[in-house]
Amino acid sequence: MSTSIQQSSDASIVSQICDTYKLTIAEFNTLRERSSAAKATAYCPYSQFRVGATLLAGDGSYIDGANVENASYPVGTCAERVAFGKAVTEGKKGFRAVAVATDISPPASPCGMCRQFIREFCDLSTPIIMFDKDQAFVVLRLEQVCTLLVPVYLPSTDSYTWLAHEAYNARSHHESRLSG
Ligand SMILES: [Zn+2]
Repeated sequence: MSTSIQQSSDASIVSQICDTYKLTIAEFNTLRERSSAAKATAYCPYSQFRVGATLLAGDGSYIDGANVENASYPVGTCAERVAFGKAVTEGKKGFRAVAVATDISPPASPCGMCRQFIREFCDLSTPIIMFDKDQAFVVLRLEQVCTLLVPVYLPSTDSYTWLAHEAYNARSHHESRLSG
């Protein structure tokens, strides 16, 4: 795992990274530009910490998000989850890359909740490209990002069964309240 910061202006590095992660240089540059631009759409009056995220979906489209905070801090949502929420509800899938941009250096990695959220929709080999304030970057595969925090719950038949069971219980509870 290389956590060293790479320069976006270094064409040979970018070309090498794109080969490794099966991206075109145009896709990489679009992820860099869009995630950095998305920071401007953040609603972060409390932390003043802007985060932009851009997803590259399997159909070649890009979906942007930014953090949306709330006066009750935990109610706020990170840029990554805003972007995935938009993407998933628009029917996007087969995500090929996730870019996250912040105003700090070294760049920030997705938080624990976002790692869990991303894992729901992405293969472990998906590149997570983290851009700093100058668009220099660190890139890791999702599996490497996830090992920074354990456990990460993975989709499985068991968890779907469990979730279906919980949803059934919640609905039954709701319906019994309505009829009662
Ligand atoms: Zn997060």
